[in-house]
Amino acid sequence: MKSNRKMITALFMIGLTLFIITKFINQPEGEWVEKNEFVLGTFSQIRIYAPTEAAGEAIIRKAFDRVHEIEKRMSPHIENSQVYKINQLANESFSEVTEDTLMVIQTGIDYYELTDGLFHIGLGSLINLWGIGTEEPYVPRQSEVDELLEALDIHAILIENSSVMIQNKHMALDLGGIAKGYAVDESVRILKEEGIQSGFINFGGDVYALGKKPDKTPWNVGIREPIIESGGLLGRVPADSLSVVTSGDYERYFIEDETIFHHIIDPRTGFPSESDLKSVTIISETSMDGDVYSTALFIMGLTQGLSFVESVQGVEAVFVNHEKEIYLSSGLKDGGFELMNEDYTLID
Ligand code: ADP
Ligand code: MG
Repeated sequence: MKSNRKMITALFMIGLTLFIITKFINQPEGEWVEKNEFVLGTFSQIRIYAPTEAAGEAIIRKAFDRVHEIEKRMSPHIENSQVYKINQLANESFSEVTEDTLMVIQTGIDYYELTDGLFHIGLGSLINLWGIGTEEPYVPRQSEVDELLEALDIHAILIENSSVMIQNKHMALDLGGIAKGYAVDESVRILKEEGIQSGFINFGGDVYALGKKPDKTPWNVGIREPIIESGGLLGRVPADSLSVVTSGDYERYFIEDETIFHHIIDPRTGFPSESDLKSVTIISETSMDGDVYSTALFIMGLTQGLSFVESVQGVEAVFVNHEKEIYLSSGLKDGGFELMNEDYTLID
């Protein structure tokens, strides 16, 4: 009799435990919390599934505070930022920087080597000359471009302990092609540290899908149609803890004499890249990889970009050319990309 009751209690306890576990696994209790801020020159959104609204808001605040800190340190336009000072003191003296800025600059230099010199963090003077993304864009004379192009040399960026100097007065740092990716990665790190298992980050086209959706299915990240003024979708990629970053000629540009001048500069010419591509989307583990490779592969163009991406482990890409053709890297061919726009053709 006694052992019977013990058995029932034991069974009940096991059942209760299983119930709690399955409930927890299927759908953790919580709610969606979302915040939008203008930072890093773009509208940025963090959306997380948090235990409570108050907890979620505090966690998002912490992540955005870090992003603002990164901007304050690494933007070339914010007076007295670390990068601003390095540029001010070009060819004069070293400036001390924090560990994160040092890492981003060092990584930026490493990416120069990895991308055959197409990703170049020393294009600041050329970017300023063009003024793309500012109120006063300008088509420079060839001689003006040539003067800065001749001076361009990645080895002029010197690092000594925790100090940086550009040994060239015609050069300036611009981390615009890498800092946003770093900021996404830092946000992800903070969200994970705070125990968030499901969330979605979008910093102006640099997307990170954190974990799966609360119902345990993967996220679907939409890729925009690469056309100016189009709000439509091109397709989507399933993502579980993945970064999805797109670069294209339709994001930031100006038009003069019917020519479009966009914001991705080819370091070989000093002009906006005359790529055969409209956009490149990179799917990778880190957003820093995505940010850099999307820019570099856009400049490489389709043929070189495709063979490049096949040579890098863990990085996949969606290429769109001017003929509205879509090319996928091999890792995406088996369900890694879903076309959602009939105007475009998926090429096998
Ligand atoms: P977005 O900022 O719109 O996501 P990208 O990630 O393609 O665009 O980065 C473009 C930015 O990177 C430019 O606005 C400029 O600051 C910088 N940049 C432009 N050309 C290059 C290049 N060849 N290498 C590294 N950075 C670049
Ligand atoms: Mg980018």
